[in-house]
Amino acid sequence: MVMTAHVKPLTDFTARDFRMLIDGAWTEGAGNVIERVAPGHGVTVSRYPAGTKADAGRAIAAARHAFDDGSWPRMTGAERSNILLKAADIIAARADDLAFLDCIESGKPISQAKGELAGAADIWRYAAALARDLHGESYNTLGQGTLGVVLREAIGVVSIITPWNFPFLIVSQKLPFALAAGCTAVVKPSELTSGSTLVLGEILIEAGVPAGVVNILTGTGPEVGSVMTTHPDVDMVSFTGSTGVGRLTMANAAQTLKKVSLELGGKNPQIVFPEADLDAFVDAAVFGAYFNAGECCNAGSRLILHRSIAGEVTARIAELSKKVKVGDPLDPATQVGAIITPQHLEKIGGYVDGAAKAGASVALGGAALDLGLGQFMAPTILSGVTPDMAVAREEVFGPVLSVLTFETTDEAVRIANAIDYGLSAGVWSRDFDTCLTIGRRVRAGTVWMNTFMDGASELPFGGYRQSGLGRELGRHAVEDYTETKTFNMHIGARTGWWMQR
Ligand code: NDP
Repeated sequence: MVMTAHVKPLTDFTARDFRMLIDGAWTEGAGNVIERVAPGHGVTVSRYPAGTKADAGRAIAAARHAFDDGSWPRMTGAERSNILLKAADIIAARADDLAFLDCIESGKPISQAKGELAGAADIWRYAAALARDLHGESYNTLGQGTLGVVLREAIGVVSIITPWNFPFLIVSQKLPFALAAGCTAVVKPSELTSGSTLVLGEILIEAGVPAGVVNILTGTGPEVGSVMTTHPDVDMVSFTGSTGVGRLTMANAAQTLKKVSLELGGKNPQIVFPEADLDAFVDAAVFGAYFNAGECCNAGSRLILHRSIAGEVTARIAELSKKVKVGDPLDPATQVGAIITPQHLEKIGGYVDGAAKAGASVALGGAALDLGLGQFMAPTILSGVTPDMAVAREEVFGPVLSVLTFETTDEAVRIANAIDYGLSAGVWSRDFDTCLTIGRRVRAGTVWMNTFMDGASELPFGGYRQSGLGRELGRHAVEDYTETKTFNMHIGARTGWWMQR
């Protein structure tokens, strides 16, 4: 049995009514209202306007005007940097309120939401530093008569579309870098978790971001997001979400050849050799599987264990999994919170049933948990999984761990790469050569060695194959939001080949 605690009803709580931010003004829009029911508490916690295509058009026009005629792209890097630093300070000061919103709207544990807010504030500071370092190149080697200068210019209006699983953190992996470059933006958070992104709008106004530079729309992807990805006045789309909608986003953006940055799904392997520090690994396996209830693109959802240790290690992971605290997202002791929607809980259950029918064994959990309110899933371990099963190839996005086994290094690499995704991977061995060999051969954007899911603002993040296009974070993150312009300059008397002078 896993450790569970019943959910306390939300008392002394009034649902919050939010508005959208278009051209510096808060608006209710012309559409209906979206009600967000807290996944861990079963009551309405937020209401947002259901933005329309017309609202999206107005937001894009405001961003276009702010880019073409406004002050933001024309400020010095230092001026933009100072505003981003101020925003970071306000984010840190309002972190508790933002974390509370992310916690009740997404169902993630409050302690984790606070950690994400601290990470997000750090990213805003990092982007502020990069704003002052954006620079191009010069070529003084092209001959006596030529000087070449390569400029970096802000790309223009950026549509930013984010998912529900890390609401504030993911918008922070995009927006501050776009702003650092001098871009203007239209942002659409998930309709399930829009609250903290709307509060970010208040923060940016207070920090001094001019009207129209950041516009925040609420509403559904098909209504609002489709305009954001097709409108000719948008120059770039930065999207995080599922691979299916990512593919659609790319096709939409192709109509006007927009630049596209995509952070998509993952089915991340952790490959474990017998000589690994198994105490450390067991801990990381449990964290990697159940962090954010497994609703995480980076979840270590696929263990590939050396056959000689598979039985013992699976049993140890199952024992530790029983100690994971599943319960009220607002309880500071909770480690696994609620599942985002009842429909998603059903989808997770479907994967578990499908794996059992295909021959896998349920070593732990396997069913939903009734904690009195909301929807929860038991930490689940499936052993005897084979690479052909859906649970080994597709993103379950729930607290479900699949255990596969290998005999040789070649076989481990083959299993690890036998999927469409390539976001991240882990390798566990005390042998340095083994770690580096696996690190080179696994096709993934991040490879953790003897650790899992650590991150830093300095380290680029993104996927190979159908896990995405482009990288976020890291020192080149601002460049992603720029165009390159070449100045080819002539010095001295001109010579022409087409006529004699
Ligand atoms: P979705 O792809 O369903 O949605 C992501 C965003 O796209 C939402 O804001 C959604 O709006 C919007 N959207 C939906 N349809 C369209 C459309 N036709 N045009 C434009 N935008 C649209 O993903 P989820 O929100 O379900 O998030 C989970 C997914 O995100 C997982 O696959 C996960 O792996 C991935 N992810 C990837 C990360 C990475 O960095 N690689 C990080 C975190 C998550 P709405 O839902 O409001 O209608």
